[in-house]
Amino acid sequence: MPAPEFPPFEAPQRILMGPGPSDVHPRVLAAMARPTVGHLDPAFVGLMDEVKQLLQYAMRTQNQLTFPISAPGSAGMEACLVNLVEPGDGVVVCRNGVFGGRMRSIVERCGGRVIPVDDAWGAPVDPGKVEDALKANPDAKLVAFVHAETSTGALSDAKALAELAHAHGCLVVVDAVTSLGGVPLEVDAWGLDAVYSGSQKCLSCAPGLSPVSFSQRVIERVQARSTPVQSWFLDLGLVMGYWGGGAKRAYHHTAPVNAIYGLHEALRMLAEEGLEAAWARHRHHHQALAAGLEAIGLPLRVAAEHRLPQLNVVELPEGFDEAAARRRLLADYGLEVGGGLGDLAGKVWRIGLMGSACSRRNVLACLAAVDDVMRGALDGAGQGRGVAAALATYG
Ligand SMILES: *Cc1c(COP(=O)(O)O)cnc(C)c1O
Repeated sequence: MPAPEFPPFEAPQRILMGPGPSDVHPRVLAAMARPTVGHLDPAFVGLMDEVKQLLQYAMRTQNQLTFPISAPGSAGMEACLVNLVEPGDGVVVCRNGVFGGRMRSIVERCGGRVIPVDDAWGAPVDPGKVEDALKANPDAKLVAFVHAETSTGALSDAKALAELAHAHGCLVVVDAVTSLGGVPLEVDAWGLDAVYSGSQKCLSCAPGLSPVSFSQRVIERVQARSTPVQSWFLDLGLVMGYWGGGAKRAYHHTAPVNAIYGLHEALRMLAEEGLEAAWARHRHHHQALAAGLEAIGLPLRVAAEHRLPQLNVVELPEGFDEAAARRRLLADYGLEVGGGLGDLAGKVWRIGLMGSACSRRNVLACLAAVDDVMRGALDGAGQGRGVAAALATYG
């Protein structure tokens, strides 16, 4: 067989305004290109400690067990659930979009007994329904929910849900993949027990890492398990020997060294800006984008008080060929926005404003491009109304 011959891959320059990955800052890309060292090299061990401290800052936690899992957000989800769920355990799983459904499948695969709490797509998780489920299932061990549902654009009240769970003797597992860095997330103040996130959403790092944080209650629960964790790779007891081992780190797996250089730089950038300033920036640009989209005739699907600033879901006109329009956005403007997932496929667009992609430049570029591809489909399109409304919001 002849050796395949290809030119080097020329990655196109895009503006990533979908549900993730978001634009990766050149500083992060440059960090990832630094020389690879061994994953037990003293220099790397020092870097790991800094990553842990930077993540503790970003997640607002003192949890010692705070580190990135060497795999994407879904692996963080799996890590939390496989360690905390034993066969037969009752687990309240809240589902108001795609990712709650994914949690449910994992709990089932762990042999857990799913206690479903369903809310409409686009609505937050209803604490009243969670309370009813907990009252009806006094033996439940865990409550799992998605803080920021990227499939629908809705933000749930993590503090209220965690309080309810604790009042009924449950620990909480929180999906903070899209919330971390974009909206307030208070791991310690809200008492969140097992939290996982992703590198490629509001942290604006390359995809492939899942920051996680575990409370002391989680460690105790895992130590008290009567059955072994069914995943070798994600077994916290084993991973802890590497990430929690201080100077005596034991080999567990080969850490993705260069990916961690990137995360370190992305977290340094977040710390330089300041967490509160990053939250405020997401809110600020979201307001301009939302005003612009509405002026074009694209209503936001989620009620204003539950909207995620970093993920804007708009309703498309009936019968609109959205796939063709997204192809045009990509070809003519280098702009990526997300289509709908699951029940919302074909009906909505998901426009992200995550991390370094969340800027005035991108808001205005996106509104101009969307205005253009909506010409003919919406009466309000093609007249620059979106950009004008956004500029008026910026003042
Ligand atoms: C993106 C996302 C995930 C999955 O993360 P991957 O890195 O794609 O595995 C999980 N939950 C939410 C809310 C997400 O937005």
